[in-house]
Amino acid sequence: MRIYLDHNATTPMRPEALEAMMPYLGARFGNANSIHGWGREAKRALEEARQVIASAIGAREKESIVFVSSGTEADNLAIKGAAWAGRPRGRHILTSAVEHHAVLNTCRSLEEQGFEVTYLPVDSEGLIDPESVQRSLRADTILISLMHANNETGVIFPIAKIGQLARQPGIVFHTDAVQAFGRLPIDVEALGVDLLSLSGHKIHGPKGIAALYVRPGTRMVPHLHGGQQERGRRAGTENVAAAIGLARAAELSVGSMDVEADRLRRLRDRLEAGILGRIEGAQRNGHTDRRLPNTSNISFRGADEESLIFALDLEGIAVSAGAACTSGSLEPSHVLQAMGRRPDIDGGGLRFSLGAGTTEAEIECALDLLPGLVERIRAAAASGRPAPALAYG
Ligand code: PLP
Repeated sequence: MRIYLDHNATTPMRPEALEAMMPYLGARFGNANSIHGWGREAKRALEEARQVIASAIGAREKESIVFVSSGTEADNLAIKGAAWAGRPRGRHILTSAVEHHAVLNTCRSLEEQGFEVTYLPVDSEGLIDPESVQRSLRADTILISLMHANNETGVIFPIAKIGQLARQPGIVFHTDAVQAFGRLPIDVEALGVDLLSLSGHKIHGPKGIAALYVRPGTRMVPHLHGGQQERGRRAGTENVAAAIGLARAAELSVGSMDVEADRLRRLRDRLEAGILGRIEGAQRNGHTDRRLPNTSNISFRGADEESLIFALDLEGIAVSAGAACTSGSLEPSHVLQAMGRRPDIDGGGLRFSLGAGTTEAEIECALDLLPGLVERIRAAAASGRPAPALAYG
């Protein structure tokens, strides 16, 4: 039995999304910018996909959706685009210490260009205080970028509340909703955001496609130069097939969200209660309720997370520690550290993230295996023997 519990890293594509894409990988191959029939056919499909994404996040105009290649690109375009456009007014950016590296490293690159960034702390449950955002505003603040849901812990930031307190004319408000989209109801009007990032491969859509919502009137300098695609905001021939796949996956994820959230929460809670009940020294990371329904992050004192990932992998079970892009390294999680956890003492966090295909039988199987694996790794660590493998790649 192979059990995939790493849906925050990526998800298997829905067959319906693949099916919707196929004609545009074959006979309907036109360039959406061509004026002949092939081009018009591709353009029509692209605009329909744009409308679906706009509707899925409550955006009034489909033109507010910019298709890009990844959530990382959406974050880069949002942050650098808004920072460069706002430079004449100020140089200060507000973000949090627990953002995905797509945001953190983009902010760091802007610091090298003379911007000043405040990385707001979180509490021990991973939550941010909306008033701390308001208190950290400066006269020269031009951008706030805060994630909607954390990829490691699933903890949800109160974006609408933060917007009410901190949003002001002249300050652009961006949220990275890559993990939240398709898992939480999202309405850009209710959230009060100017920019919002989402990504296809997290919602059972294809990789290589994502979108940035840009509220009409938001000033943003493009970072790719070339043709006038995406209304001059992102040059490069559009990936029509992938945009269609993203739209189909979005329709299905948003359409089944309520039922699916209940189902996943039940399975996740069963997994979590089982682990915490059966394994001494196991500790949940992140707020109990203010979390994505599919995510659980647990530390096992005395058992390092790489060894656990490897041991589970040998049993056919995929989980992860931190972000997928850093799970092969021994770097402790910046998210858990920001929450005051001590990975060397408490154990690093193991992330279990469930998805559309996760079943009760899979959860029971993982629960049966875990206590023995944790015990073995603890025993190896206590005896000074090397952990089963640290070169997890
Ligand atoms: N932001 C968050 C919160 C994420 O979890 C991820 C991916 O893990 C990204 C951004 C980057 O998205 P992508 O993998 O599409 O580049």
